[in-house]
Amino acid sequence: MRAAERALRDHFGYAEFRAGQRTLVEAVLAGRDVLGVMPTGAGKSVCYQVPGVVMEGVTLVISPLVSLMGDQVRSLLDAGVRGAYLNSTLTPAQQSTVMRRALEGAYDVMYVAPERLSDPRFRAFAASAAIPLLAVDEAHCVSQWGQDFRPSYLAIGAFIESLPVRPAVAALTATATGRVRADIVRLLGLRDPLVLVTGFDRPNLFFGVERLEPKRKLARIAAHALANPADAGIVYCSTRKDTERVCDALVEAGVAAVRYHAGLPAAEREASQRAFITDDAAVMVATNAFGMGIDKSNVRYVIHHNMPGSIEAYYQEAGRAGRDGEPARCLLLWSDGDVSTCRFFIDQESGNDELTPEEAEAVRATRRRMLEAMVGYCYTTSCLREYILRYFGEKEPAEAGAEGEARAGVAASAAGGEGEARADAAATGGEPAGKLAAGVAVAGGEPAGELAAGGQDAGSPAAAQHFCGNCSNCDGDFEAVDVTLEARAVMRCVHELRGRFGKGMVVDVLRGADTERIRSLGLDGARTYGALDASAALVKEVIELLAAGEYLVITEGTYPTVGLGPRGREAARDDFSLTMKKALRPADRRRRARERSAVAGPGAHVGTGVGRVFGAGSFGDDELFERLRALRKSLADAMGKPPYVVFSDAALRDMCAKRPATDEEFLEVSGVGLAKLKRYGEDFLAEIRAFEKEG
Ligand code: ADP
Ligand code: ZN
Repeated sequence: MRAAERALRDHFGYAEFRAGQRTLVEAVLAGRDVLGVMPTGAGKSVCYQVPGVVMEGVTLVISPLVSLMGDQVRSLLDAGVRGAYLNSTLTPAQQSTVMRRALEGAYDVMYVAPERLSDPRFRAFAASAAIPLLAVDEAHCVSQWGQDFRPSYLAIGAFIESLPVRPAVAALTATATGRVRADIVRLLGLRDPLVLVTGFDRPNLFFGVERLEPKRKLARIAAHALANPADAGIVYCSTRKDTERVCDALVEAGVAAVRYHAGLPAAEREASQRAFITDDAAVMVATNAFGMGIDKSNVRYVIHHNMPGSIEAYYQEAGRAGRDGEPARCLLLWSDGDVSTCRFFIDQESGNDELTPEEAEAVRATRRRMLEAMVGYCYTTSCLREYILRYFGEKEPAEAGAEGEARAGVAASAAGGEGEARADAAATGGEPAGKLAAGVAVAGGEPAGELAAGGQDAGSPAAAQHFCGNCSNCDGDFEAVDVTLEARAVMRCVHELRGRFGKGMVVDVLRGADTERIRSLGLDGARTYGALDASAALVKEVIELLAAGEYLVITEGTYPTVGLGPRGREAARDDFSLTMKKALRPADRRRRARERSAVAGPGAHVGTGVGRVFGAGSFGDDELFERLRALRKSLADAMGKPPYVVFSDAALRDMCAKRPATDEEFLEVSGVGLAKLKRYGEDFLAEIRAFEKEG
């Protein structure tokens, strides 16, 4: 382990392993298979790169993204690690050279596209090479239940078995439901793996939700991009058409934006990606086709122009912000239309599958539950971070600074061990596994449970609430309005209508609308006819809220209907309550902010304590940061590397804070190892010196 620590320090410039990394690296060095489930930005690469440096022979890394390998290897070389890659972008002659050099022991780490595994020449190579470790990056790609299934990943298991000496296998992923995790273990043939699931909290990310009319979304996005022109950001859209439209509008507004979706020619996609990665284009507007494995660590914001279909998808996409650990913003813009679009997609998509009608309906039901949890996120009045973590099976955000034991390594165990149930909850999210039904259900099984601030909390919704202090709900730019009475009326009405009608009819009946249809159906005689004196918009919103909490189920399709949901009966209980968000007017918002800062003393925020972690630096830091960033860009351009490969934003920030003057001091900067000192030390030290002199 000492050799590993030395490699971490000398090559990667980090003083110590994070808790999860340490557990995995120790196991791998001991020759054990591992499965690591860690959120984006947790530092998964270190888990195989450091063993790659330390262990005899060449570590193979299977990675799905050919376009990314070049950058990954450049990063390694920059850190003084002997890396190489093998994929279809190399000519056969180049591939032969790489394999020959690998046999001569020229590389510590070699990236390989999964397609290579079926190439006889590669197999011959692998049979004679010393391979102590095989790492499978984005391991969820092996599962058909995951979002990014790659058939070529199915060949990995047999490949491992075919090797004369079986290497240790390290499977790594940021997203894995219980089902996917079981698939990973089974299909890769992991043997008694150490399974590690680290905390999913990303304290440096600010989460925000804003409900906006579709036509106002564009202006909101443009405003954000223009206000932060130097920041890299990703804007996710749900359709190609929106991607085009939003990108055009941003460019029109003067934002350096590029676009990416599956409908574009490969060359344009490639060019867009490159421009974004090299900081030439600040903003990437894309569908979800963009991003898996995007290594860019300095993405400062991710804005969703539309609501995605599940918390899993959202967290994965939003999680591409702030991988360097520096503050970053994740903003979800949504409108009613997004919800119906998602419902529509659910019906469409499963229609194409070759499934039995029962299977298809089961899939739809799962998707619907996942969607409702997502809708719940949009509506919830409690902490957004807490909502997400609950969904993933964690009760609350980790304490500030508890990045060590408390935050990571919570569930290190052999498969089937104690950490298992928790991880299943995390994983299945909207789809609780049967065995979870009891105790753990709070976490995974009831993602929207918090919505109804029900039970003892009724009347004092803030009582059990966690404030992370770094999300739009904790910042409190809305007011929680009690709509329990309205909700009860809706439930009674849906019950009375026996789930035969859609949202509009429920609203009309409750509001006592005098329409032809109501009269012809005799619904003006219903007990709940005219039971509510509220706006149609409010009643509709209450219906959505109830659906998000699984009290109701809404189907879309030709005849959308509203019926009672699995938790429908709970709404009849005395302790049931429901609160709704109402946006505050700007003046109220300012007042609220004043009140909060008056009340909140030090440590008042139970959550991530972002204020403490990202406390203000000394004067002039921002200016110096800009200069170092410019230097980084010009050095990177000259070498044809992405800027984040030279140094992460976090490393630049640390330079600003430490203001190193000597080589030794420069080595103290997080992210600076010996190779980087040698390569960049002089330039950066000179820039810092010049800055200090002028100041
Ligand atoms: P992942 O693949 O899990 O998304 P990465 O491997 O890209 O994460 O690492 C995320 C960031 O964290 C990178 O900038 C990386 O250099 C940094 N990092 C990794 N390990 C450590 C560590 N032990 N200490 C500090 N920073 C680290
Ligand atoms: Zn919060």
